[in-house]
Amino acid sequence: MPLCAMAHAMTDNTPAIRIKDLQKRYAGAKGEEGKLALKGVSFDVPRGQIFGLLGPNGAGKSTLINILAGLVNKTGGGAEIWGFDIDQDHRNAKRSIGIVPQEIVIDPFFTPYEVLENQAGFYGVPKAERRSEELLAAVRLADKRDAYARTLSGGMKRRLLVAKAMVHSPPVLVLDEPTAGVDVDLRRQLWELVSELNAQGVTIVLTTHYLEEAEELCDQIAIINHGELIANKPTRELVDMAREKIVAVTLSEDLPAELPHHEALVKCERMGDRSLEVTYNKDTASAGQVLAILQGQGLTIDDVTTREADLEDVFVQLTS
Ligand code: ADP
Ligand code: MG
Repeated sequence: MPLCAMAHAMTDNTPAIRIKDLQKRYAGAKGEEGKLALKGVSFDVPRGQIFGLLGPNGAGKSTLINILAGLVNKTGGGAEIWGFDIDQDHRNAKRSIGIVPQEIVIDPFFTPYEVLENQAGFYGVPKAERRSEELLAAVRLADKRDAYARTLSGGMKRRLLVAKAMVHSPPVLVLDEPTAGVDVDLRRQLWELVSELNAQGVTIVLTTHYLEEAEELCDQIAIINHGELIANKPTRELVDMAREKIVAVTLSEDLPAELPHHEALVKCERMGDRSLEVTYNKDTASAGQVLAILQGQGLTIDDVTTREADLEDVFVQLTS
């Protein structure tokens, strides 16, 4: 059975999620104005994608996710999940989404199997339609079926939460910072799991503050900062926005006190006594020209590497 077997009433181009001028002001302390965590954010998550919601800590990512989950009340705007309005069609909206929260909260005295059965009961999934065993296998926890949750490692708990979010076979799965503070192996495992679910047709939204993670995994990336949407583009386009390239050179002698200057160079940065990073715009210069300029200014070059700007650079560009 496909993991997203939900019947739905939507047309072909209805987005998986539609966020419309979403606002949230948290209640403040007595007499004080509370934090404006979302300042009117709008974007669509197309169906079938792995969609990244990227932003630094405090940007408003969890606030947005928690509004979709029904855990936080918005103070303005609206949202639709799988075509269902979260206010007018609350029940169907909730059935259409599975959420893996940022914080791991699992009752330590239930077994993974019980956790899934309880959650299925909570969603009113009939016994005959439950898929607890299948889900445990999908998240590689079949052998932990009857272990107490408190004996599971952090990584196993997170995988169990993914299974828990999928018990009602929602067409949309949201993971809030699934890899924050997890080691490289577990991150790999989670990425594989997310990719597998996506290949089976589940639309995935994941929040992260790791740029390389969004870059590697996501079809499209929205960036929020201070409660505002600052970009929303296919990953490739976003990366292409960074037109700058960097040449890192190692010299055979110490750098002079005065670093090279030239109109074709965006900037030169001293990285060590004999190393220098030169940023240039790839529309107006080439690595060869950069090296010729450096040599023309009397530097003897020992070694060279170049790199493309990554999303980190794009982000700096967008937020500066
Ligand atoms: P992110 O998930 O992107 O790190 P959050 O949505 O958690 O960001 O937080 C956005 C802003 O809202 C932050 O300034 C945070 O301090 C504030 N905030 C989050 N939750 C609450 C709350 N329950 N009460 C008051 N302020 C909050
Ligand atoms: Mg968060």
